[in-house]
Amino acid sequence: MAKRLIYDLDFESLAAALAELDQPAFRTQQLWEGLYTHYFADFAQFSNIPKDLRDSLSAQFIIDPLRVQKSLLSQDGLTEKVLFALPDNLSIETVLMRYERRNSLCISTQIGCPMGCVFCATGQMGFIRNLSSGEILAQILHFMRKLKAEDQNLTNIVYMGMGEPFLNYEATMNSLRRLMDPRGLNFGARRITISTVGIIPKIEQFTEENLQVNLAVSLHTADDSLRSQLVPANRMFPLSKLIPACKAYTEKTHRRISFEYALIDGVNDSHEAALALSSLLKGMLCHVNLIALNPSKKYPLQGSPKAKIHAFSATLEEHGIPVTIRLRRGVEIQAGCGQLASAEKTNDNKINTLQ
Ligand code: SAH
Ligand code: SF4
Repeated sequence: MAKRLIYDLDFESLAAALAELDQPAFRTQQLWEGLYTHYFADFAQFSNIPKDLRDSLSAQFIIDPLRVQKSLLSQDGLTEKVLFALPDNLSIETVLMRYERRNSLCISTQIGCPMGCVFCATGQMGFIRNLSSGEILAQILHFMRKLKAEDQNLTNIVYMGMGEPFLNYEATMNSLRRLMDPRGLNFGARRITISTVGIIPKIEQFTEENLQVNLAVSLHTADDSLRSQLVPANRMFPLSKLIPACKAYTEKTHRRISFEYALIDGVNDSHEAALALSSLLKGMLCHVNLIALNPSKKYPLQGSPKAKIHAFSATLEEHGIPVTIRLRRGVEIQAGCGQLASAEKTNDNKINTLQ
């Protein structure tokens, strides 16, 4: 029987697994603490658990399914991108961004993505498979371990790596629950952001969850027909329906929603585009994050030059739309979404066999 990933289990399932091994209830808490407060990656580290139980557990479960395949550090040493191989030899990538007072991790939820946004390296890869909740968590735990060894902490987590989290909703939500569990990782909801291309039914479902987790929607343009070209999901979930769903989210949760906008030179960065965006978002409890497009293999257009980004930002500000210009990080290490994994052979081979 193949071993199960222990991070895939919630507290109750772990308790049930231990009950099957005739263990008393307190073992669940011990194991949970070892996994999620000490970040143990090996059963041998659980010194408060008897050796025979550790042996039975390691016969059934693996703790860390990730193998570092490649690790790249930006020239300034502040951005680190790791390409991980999973047990089925597929690859995912995770990016750590260090700032002065925070350490932010960008994690993947799928291998590839079926949404096919034209500028996105992950979209260009096609969809391969969903990650399990444990595979999502394993990326986080890898970096928590690493930062702990440096006497540092992970302060922010963004679900903005490979894949569309709302097309892998259950695993995403289960990873969130484990991340926020006060008995374990106890990570603050307000320091987590989930980014979606705009899957309306899932935005509605997420609204009902009433969590303190931040929601970001990747907008990229206020023009419906341009958006359908850039982000094919817009054909099914057009702006005329997406924006009301976003408004409903802010009204129900009283939380600010973020809109991601990748500025593409000559495509969506004109003064008119900024005006259209301002009027689309007028009156909404929101924040716009501008970032210059990262050129990718199959979409070699350029990100907007600095002057245009600043002009775009100024127009939004003049119209009362809160806006931040995000710096591109780790361009030289292909830190953009899916760029490293798509440069690797492993996943490409898999796509070829699937097609
Ligand atoms: N699928 C989700 C989350 C993963 S993509 C989503 O689309 O929101 C994370 C962010 O990276 C999105 O805002 C996406 O539009 C953006 N992105 C993808 N490719 C990019 C590129 N080449 N340059 C700049 N941003 C990019
Ligand atoms: Fe998928 Fe997001 Fe990339 Fe679009 S931008 S293809 S939704 S990962």
